[in-house]
Amino acid sequence: MRQRSSKVDLHIHSTASDGVLTPSEVVRLARERELDVIALTDHDTLSGVAEAQRAAAGAGPEVIAGVEINSEGEWGALHFLGYYVDPDNGPLRERLQAMLDARLSRAYRMIRLLDEMGLPLDWEEVRALAGGESIGRPHLARALVNRGYVETTQEAFERFIARDGPAYVPRPRLSPPDVIRAIVGAGGVPVLAHPAHSGPAAVERVPEFVGYGLRGVEVYYPDHSPEQVEMLLGLCQEYRLLVTGGSDFHGPGFEEGAPLGSVYVPAECAERLREEAAAFRTQIAGQ
Ligand code: AMP
Ligand code: FE
Ligand code: FE
Ligand code: ZN
Repeated sequence: MRQRSSKVDLHIHSTASDGVLTPSEVVRLARERELDVIALTDHDTLSGVAEAQRAAAGAGPEVIAGVEINSEGEWGALHFLGYYVDPDNGPLRERLQAMLDARLSRAYRMIRLLDEMGLPLDWEEVRALAGGESIGRPHLARALVNRGYVETTQEAFERFIARDGPAYVPRPRLSPPDVIRAIVGAGGVPVLAHPAHSGPAAVERVPEFVGYGLRGVEVYYPDHSPEQVEMLLGLCQEYRLLVTGGSDFHGPGFEEGAPLGSVYVPAECAERLREEAAAFRTQIAGQ
């Protein structure tokens, strides 16, 4: 018998950011894999959510409105997931729009650096490849592969566009408290994404983030070891945080993340998350 726990995936990307399947294709695949609940969590945008929810209407799965917002600083990269956010919330929309604009100008500057290194790319070609409004380094990596400059997107990162690479340009990012508060302000539930992936500093700062309004930790994740899962479950218990999990699916055959629905995520994670979001909405309505 299939385990009930295999039917939830709360971390998924689509063409609205750097995934390769459209939101409708993600929903179709989720249905094929018999998922009951998915969350679309594109980078800095909620623009894929409406399409996914339309595609899922009637036949399922349930599609949670989500977003992934990265913050970065001297401590390294920290990613946050926001669940059940209101896509029409003004302040959140403004913040996300500022980040999308910054992504555009940053991609443009990276293309100029690559050009100076003898790796010309066409701006329109990269825009077309990105498709949506959230343009990121994975799109540049794919453009470099398409031109035959590198064999794989991984090679593109390693040689040119990783954080210490010669064509890397940083982009302005919100600080962790600003990310958490923007999600809470939009009625959403903020969760620390793949903390083990982000290094020990991420875990050490969880108590501080709880003070800003953090409500959960992504415990089940492709490269989290059983020991890390145990440690994170303990952390969630200590700080009364929600436990979430997902594949970080970016598309079939794409190096980052894992296949859709492939990560063990207990079904109760989605139930607790839904209850938490509902309780939060009631609390806001009562204020
Ligand atoms: P950006 O937000 O445009 O800076 O791109 C960050 C995204 O690039 C991450 O969410 C990952 O999807 C991907 N990424 C970052 N570093 C690497 C790496 N070393 N190898 C492969 N993909 C990476
Ligand atoms: Fe990504
Ligand atoms: Fe991430
Ligand atoms: Zn992700």
